[in-house]
Formats: sequence, C-alpha cells, structure tokens
Amino acid sequence: MPIQPIRLFGDPVLATPAARVETFDKELRTLVSDLTETMRDAPGAGLAAPQIGVPLRVFVWDVDDELGHLVNPVLTLSEELQDGEEGCLSFPDIRYDTPRAMTVIANGFNMHGEPVQINGSEFLARAIQHETDHLDGILFIDRLPTDLRKEAMREIRESEWFGSEIAHGTTPVIKVSPHSTRGLGI
Ligand code: ZN
Repeated sequence: MPIQPIRLFGDPVLATPAARVETFDKELRTLVSDLTETMRDAPGAGLAAPQIGVPLRVFVWDVDDELGHLVNPVLTLSEELQDGEEGCLSFPDIRYDTPRAMTVIANGFNMHGEPVQINGSEFLARAIQHETDHLDGILFIDRLPTDLRKEAMREIRESEWFGSEIAHGTTPVIKVSPHSTRGLGI
C-alpha cells in the first residue's frame, strides 16, 4: 500500500473534526494499512487519518514495538497527569513539554468492526490522547499553557516548512521533511 503525504499545520483538514466510521469495509482496512506504512516511514509513534487528509475517526500507533490501530475511540482519562516532550508529524522539528493524563482507557473498534479496549499508560497513553485529539481537530499546541503556546507559534512561524505549499497539502510529495523525527512524532 502506498505511503501518503503527511499534512502539515496550516492544512484545514487538521483543524476539522473527523466523522465516525460507519462501514468496516476493505476501504477502511486499506486506510489502516496506509496509515501504518506512512507512520513507519516517517518514522513516527502514531498517526491519525486526518494527517493524511482522510477525515475519519481512525488512528494507528507504534509504541514499545507494538503496532496498533483504533476506530471511533472513546477515552476515559486518569486524574493523574504526566508531563513530557511531545511532537507531531504535522509539525516537523517542533517539540514541547505537553501535559497529558497518565493513563487512558480507550474503547473503540478494530478494522473488522469488533469492539476493543486499549489500556495505556505513559507514552502509549500520551500517543492515544494526541491521536484522539487529531480526530477532534485539536492539535498538541492547543494543550500547551498560554506562554508555551505563544513560544511554539513563534517557532512554527519561523520554521522553513510553515506557509509553504507543502503545508497546505497541495503538493503531492512523499516525504515532506528531511529532518529526523527521532521516532517521537505523533
Ligand atoms: Zn500529531
């Protein structure tokens, strides 16, 4: 299955809530496969369908050498919080300490339409929260304290990729960034 171009911050699809998956068909299985291949190529630890321009509630992850995917997720978050560095494949080279719940229970479906529950903590919990946010049109910079968000926006505006045609998803490129993501981008 083909690797897809990853949409960058500035592309409207990243700010748009995605629709629930209603049909668990071959097209959905192809989407999960495309997401997985694109994530591994980046390389990244997670990728949500809107990041490749598909406005559906689907994401994949690759955390601690375990691949996973989830469709139509509903999250229950712990009160306990974690802080740690977070990045996003839609924001090349941008990383900030981002507060998240320490653990998460994610209920949803696999690509065959069977109900599944994922229990995650630490980085897996972070990735699942980050990807579910993508499905709601929420980006990790939206989770930063005001001061840090301002600093992030300044860094983004100064980045070489921001405002380019690529950032608006109009150029069909395979790899949008030559920079290493250190596998942390989600
Ligand atoms: Zn992301």
